[in-house]
Amino acid sequence: MKTRRAATRIETRTWWLFVACALVPVAAFALLGFVVVSGELQRLAQERLDAAAKGYGLVILDRLQQIDGDLTQRAQLHLQTAEPEPPASITTDRAVFRVLDISRTASAASRNPHINKTLHTIRRGDATAAVVEVSVRNPQGSIRMQAEVMPDYLWNDEAVLLPGATPCVLTEEAALSCADDNNVPAHATSDELTSEWTLFLNASYGAPAWRIRVQQPRSDALGALNAFRWMLPATAMLAVTLALLFGSIFIRRSHAPLHLLTQAARRIARRDFSQPVVCESRDEYGRLTRTFNRMAGNLQNQFALQTGFARIDEIILSRAGAAEAIDSLLPQMPHMLGCNVAGVLLMESSGRIHVRLATQTGERRDDTLEVSAELMMRQGMRRLTRDAAPALFALAGIANGDLVLCAITVAGVIRGHVAASDERFGRAATQGLLGIAQRLAVAIGNDDAQQALWRQAHLDPLTGLANRLLLQRRITQAIDDARADNSHGAVIFLDLDRFKSVNDSLGHSSGDVLLRRIAERLTTHAPRNATVARFGGDEFVILLPHADEREAKEDAQRILESLADPCMLDEIHYVTHASAGIALFPHHGTDADALLKHADIALYRAKSAGRGTARLFDASMSEDIAVRLQLEQQLRDALRNGEIRAHFQPKVDASGAMVAAEALARWQDSRGAFISPALFIPVAEDTGLVTVLGESMVIQACRQLRQWRSIGLTIQHVAVNISMLQLRDPAFAPFIERTLALFGLPGDSLELEVTESLFAQDGQEAVEQLRRLARGGVRIAIDDFGTGFSSMSRLREFPITTLKIDQSFVRDLSDKARMLLKALIDVGHALHLEVVAEGVETAEQRDTLRTLGCGLMQGFLFTPALPAEEATRLLVAASVRPVSLQEAG
Ligand code: C2E
Ligand code: CA
Ligand code: CA
Repeated sequence: MKTRRAATRIETRTWWLFVACALVPVAAFALLGFVVVSGELQRLAQERLDAAAKGYGLVILDRLQQIDGDLTQRAQLHLQTAEPEPPASITTDRAVFRVLDISRTASAASRNPHINKTLHTIRRGDATAAVVEVSVRNPQGSIRMQAEVMPDYLWNDEAVLLPGATPCVLTEEAALSCADDNNVPAHATSDELTSEWTLFLNASYGAPAWRIRVQQPRSDALGALNAFRWMLPATAMLAVTLALLFGSIFIRRSHAPLHLLTQAARRIARRDFSQPVVCESRDEYGRLTRTFNRMAGNLQNQFALQTGFARIDEIILSRAGAAEAIDSLLPQMPHMLGCNVAGVLLMESSGRIHVRLATQTGERRDDTLEVSAELMMRQGMRRLTRDAAPALFALAGIANGDLVLCAITVAGVIRGHVAASDERFGRAATQGLLGIAQRLAVAIGNDDAQQALWRQAHLDPLTGLANRLLLQRRITQAIDDARADNSHGAVIFLDLDRFKSVNDSLGHSSGDVLLRRIAERLTTHAPRNATVARFGGDEFVILLPHADEREAKEDAQRILESLADPCMLDEIHYVTHASAGIALFPHHGTDADALLKHADIALYRAKSAGRGTARLFDASMSEDIAVRLQLEQQLRDALRNGEIRAHFQPKVDASGAMVAAEALARWQDSRGAFISPALFIPVAEDTGLVTVLGESMVIQACRQLRQWRSIGLTIQHVAVNISMLQLRDPAFAPFIERTLALFGLPGDSLELEVTESLFAQDGQEAVEQLRRLARGGVRIAIDDFGTGFSSMSRLREFPITTLKIDQSFVRDLSDKARMLLKALIDVGHALHLEVVAEGVETAEQRDTLRTLGCGLMQGFLFTPALPAEEATRLLVAASVRPVSLQEAG
């Protein structure tokens, strides 16, 4: 139901104006009209009354004349007939008069007829009667007739036709005929109108004049005026009422838009833009309404724009992503920009464009487009026509004007566009588009920064694989998941065999390339749901959620095989081998650390089992680890207690003479058992104890050589095995120089056996130290030659004196192996190096080597490494009596 609205102030004011405008003239007119009309009516009433008085007088005169005429006739008739006695009274049918007296007079008849009339009045009781006397004198005689006029006939009130009017005939002395004689007023009273007319009788009857007076009550005389008296205010009232009624309707009608505009303005103040003001009129109100609606539309867009901006700003500040910002922004965009269609186009990493559009009416489009050159344009605002970007328009389908695009530029790179379409595209929309693009750029920039931070925190920068932190989180998550759905999973711990030597010999950049290739292979060959992580250096971990023991083993095997494919590094086909340890959860651990530790233990076991193997963790392995830890502790103690002794294995020349010796570390534990260096050297290297051990060996070797020389033995040099770890220590060269000086030995008394990893680019420090020592005459041997990656050109760059051909080449005596062996020996000779063959166990091997031109040999055929005293005894014996090669051992 429509409630009646309250009048506005303007309406009330206008209404009062109407009241004044209607009331004043009507009242003035009514007053004036009343004065004029009532005067006129009074005048008319008076005139009527005057006419009535005159008419009444004339009627009386007429009757008197009729009567005197009648009497005259009768008198004349009398004279003619000479009737002696006229009747006493003559009455007419209507009792007009009564003859009072007829008398013949004796007066002489006159020749000339003569008629004389008189009139007088007589009192007859209360009434006054008129008496007419006619005297006729003619030749027949003379007669006088006297008659009383019948008052009923003469004073005929009916002759006065005015309502309520009463006539009265007066003489100077008395009232002849009055309705009520007693009430003959001398003057008219205030409530009566009076008129008087004088009937002159002198000429006709020689009598004094009669005054005819007519009186009429004002109420009768002014009846019309009375009616006018109440009709006039009533009409005025009616006129005013109608004027006000129509006035108020008109005011309401004509001010209605003002009321609507006021209400709309109030709604807008409350930010309610839902209803536009409807006013069809063509007047100023119509124009004002249209302008108002336009202004409201602009305001609404401004509000929507500002609200939208505020929302994106909020989202940006809350650090939610660009996707969220777009999601919440998109439906608002057409309103914000005041256009039919608006949307966001984002470049995907695939090069396609993800297009999202929304319309005013809430329609949505969401699709991807092949990128078109048109959409990739560099910057700023750009208008697209239908033929310029047909694909986009086909997708949009809902755009009915041109599309205007504004680039979203993040750090100088276009990442997408904000789009809007409308027939008319205003300045506000342009600014809005720009604002949205800038804000989305910030949101995307934030996303990028956050992603970069996340990557920094969670990914390995070299390989892009998960890092240790992410791996640990994922494992924890997988363990939780497995616990929740009562399932299981596995981790595979991978370690590259001898990666260190690649790194050391080919340099870090090649090592990096290798690690990246390996990462790629791992990612390709790991199951889809797996997490591949780089755990450190050359260690990788693969998390396999839901995998059981069989699947884990199969996956590990497949991955190991995939790594075995050769890979080109620095123009060399490099074959990577890896070992893998597997631990299952929740079986082998219920937290990430335990699981990784156990997989690592399994890996350790796999490594010792040989290249390319995978091992599943079992509890007994933990014990091995405990053993290793124990060994480490024991090694520390042994080094402190000087339990690591140098044994010496002589080098024999072609003649069979023992010309030099290699010092090999021997550890005899408290129970007298020897622990193999193959067992404790890696532990020493892992723990850094190898430096202490190495120094001890150099000192023991030098002391021994000093002693040998002091007893006259001509041993050219002693060889000591040097770990790369030692060479990296800048204190190494000074230490060697100090030791040689301490024992008074020249540089060439000492040979340092190093492996091919020396050739690593980053081993520059080590190379520099060796160069410095070489300049001092110290000999440098490449140990286990043939198993690494030395190239001829690299060999030549270093101050090497000796090549020690690895035992594996000596042991195999097949034709192919012999050719390889010969090639190695030839390389040594080509570089003018001393060539030593290691691990010579049989005479056949010795003879072969001899035929191939290898000058120096070492091996069980001659002697294993011996404790210092035994070696001394052997050397002394040999120097006194040169031993035949066969006799040795
Ligand atoms: P290596 O430098 O290649 O030493 C030669 C190894 O071969 C020695 O084993 C030696 O006993 C063994 N050998 C000698 N002749 C024969 C033979 O005819 N047949 C066989 N099968 N083996 C033979 P060992 O002493 O167990 O040393 C193993 C490795 O430990 C060494 O290999 C060396 O790399 C390392 N090592 C030994 N002592 C030291 C040391 O003082 N410092 C460092 N850094 N490493 C050492
Ligand atoms: Ca050696
Ligand atoms: Ca060796």
